[in-house]
Amino acid sequence: MPVYKAPLRDMKFLLNDVFDYPGHYQTLASGENATPDIVEAILTECGRFCEEVLSPLYQSGDEEGCKLDNGEVTTPKGYREAYDQYVMGGWQGLSAPEDFGGQGLPASMGLLKQEMMGTANWSFSMYPGLSLGAMNTIFLHGDEHQKQTYLIPLTEGRWGGTMCLTEPQCGTDLGQVKTKAEPQADGSYTLTGTKIFISSGEHDLTENIVHIVLARLPDAPKGTKGISLFIVPKFLPGADGGLGERNAVSCGALEKKMGIKASATCVMNFDGATGFLIGPENQGLECMFTFMNTARIGTAIQGVGPAELSYQWALDYARERRSMRALSGKKDPDQVADSLIHHADVRRMLLTQKAIAEGGRAMLYYAARLADHMVEAHTAGDEQKAAKYDDKLGFLTPILKGFLTELGCEATNLGMQVFGGHGYIREHGMEQIVRDTRIATLYEGTTGIQALDLLGRKVLLMTQGGAVREFTLKVANFARKHLTNKPLRPMSVELLKLTAQWNLLTVRVMLAARKDRDIVSAAANDFLMYSGYVTMAYMWLRQAAVAVDRLNEGGEESGAFYQTKLATAEFYYERLLPRAQAHATSMLSPARNLMQVEPEHLAFTG
Ligand SMILES: Cc1cc2nc3c(=O)[nH]c(=O)nc-3n(C[C@H](O)[C@H](O)[C@H](O)COP(=O)(O)OP(=O)(O)OC[C@H]3O[C@@H](n4cnc5c(N)ncnc54)[C@H](O)[C@@H]3O)c2cc1C
Repeated sequence: MPVYKAPLRDMKFLLNDVFDYPGHYQTLASGENATPDIVEAILTECGRFCEEVLSPLYQSGDEEGCKLDNGEVTTPKGYREAYDQYVMGGWQGLSAPEDFGGQGLPASMGLLKQEMMGTANWSFSMYPGLSLGAMNTIFLHGDEHQKQTYLIPLTEGRWGGTMCLTEPQCGTDLGQVKTKAEPQADGSYTLTGTKIFISSGEHDLTENIVHIVLARLPDAPKGTKGISLFIVPKFLPGADGGLGERNAVSCGALEKKMGIKASATCVMNFDGATGFLIGPENQGLECMFTFMNTARIGTAIQGVGPAELSYQWALDYARERRSMRALSGKKDPDQVADSLIHHADVRRMLLTQKAIAEGGRAMLYYAARLADHMVEAHTAGDEQKAAKYDDKLGFLTPILKGFLTELGCEATNLGMQVFGGHGYIREHGMEQIVRDTRIATLYEGTTGIQALDLLGRKVLLMTQGGAVREFTLKVANFARKHLTNKPLRPMSVELLKLTAQWNLLTVRVMLAARKDRDIVSAAANDFLMYSGYVTMAYMWLRQAAVAVDRLNEGGEESGAFYQTKLATAEFYYERLLPRAQAHATSMLSPARNLMQVEPEHLAFTG
């Protein structure tokens, strides 16, 4: 069975050489303890945990899945023990505030941990991942009593968390939420309704589960303006902070699904369950957005991690499996045939996976620096600074989530393709990675919704193109600096052209949308993908620039490592980035070609 190897060399190259995380951490109060030695030790230890504990449970968890018996959910064999080790290691509190039992390290350290865990075993990582979102929501919107009650056991990992938004009639359009919350004399609320598709809704890993639930107060305004947010614990907290009475919230069914089978996806019934309002009445959706942004960056990891895993396994296979002879002549003359890796088309697949995994990782680490600043400013009470970084991150979030998860699906499919028919057979694990990754473009807002959020809300409505102007200025300045550097010149020229084109496209879509409102929805997906390809191009130029510098000046890594970085950047610019032009052309085509056929004429059956 293939195993996961933590890509520590690439991670350290990005952290230390490309994004200067050691310098970045020195500027943060939370970075005081994130010295290079500590970061190194954490990465190594987390990598070991992922390789030795989580990775071996990846395929067995898929085979066994979760089981529901009498309202109780059992996770696959080995999951409880692995989770106990996770808790013992203090991993859940890595980036949580020290006041609530965390280690107070920067948010980006948590992302590095999530990346490795999610790559080794996505299903497992969902249990603590959802809890992190619950922790953030309570930290940002909870009152002092709620923070004292819930944050410590959540930080320790003794309690788990969920997000309960989706109902049978709505996932995207949460204005349709029907779950009711009736106020009680003691200040609590009684919640009644059904939520579906709830990840980690019920399981046997933690002693309590804290549900964060969207519900509607009596007489609340219709639509999104009438939704409030509630904490509904499985066990009500006792006076001593321990477990009290069992609450009336239960798992009615486990969803049968395509992948992430070791992650319990639950139908949750709230039958007059006791809940506690969190944040102001009728502003639940705004409060939940904090949760959603965190979760969306977390989900973007699901584009990068599986691309990495699938690449690692495909690369091993392509080195070993033999088929025919390379067109340029025998490469392994003593063998019956050359290995797959000598065929250019197989290289195309492998390099696409590599470019996506490493380019995507760079996008995540770039965004994680912004997240560190945002959290730091918020903790220091500097809301103006926090809002500035939130805006920068808010622009990138839909690009990361939408684009990286789409490319993650492509990369994992290519990994399966490298295995030929064997990729389709369960034994090798490649089809599992494809199945597990497919959900990433659907939950936490589908790609379509990310695209609308990017183009409709963040680019057109909120900033009238300003978000693109601000980001492209930064990118263009970087590209300009490298125009005279010979190996970097072609890439810099191309990137510079794209920054101008990105602004032009934004203006053209904006003008077209004034005449035809359907244009926004019609252009959104192409706009998102275009934005993603250009952002990744920026990341590849940044990596290439460091590689060239280290080849000249020397660095921690081998010459081959830097040469390969440069070659992968060239591959990206020459073979993947041209796709941006197809998106540009398609984006500018009229909405007519999508809308002119009447819905009843879309099929002529019967
Ligand atoms: C395995 C799994 C785990 C999940 N975990 C959770 C969880 O923990 N908590 C939770 O609350 N939910 C969870 N979900 C639910 C998930 O977030 C939703 O399924 C998702 O948001 C999409 O909602 P929907 O299924 O209702 O699709 P719909 O909203 O019905 O959308 C269907 C299609 O229409 C498109 N669409 C919808 N509206 C528009 C529009 N205005 N413009 C253009 N296109 C549009 C969408 O992009 C999509 O392609 C999970 C789902 C799954 C499958």
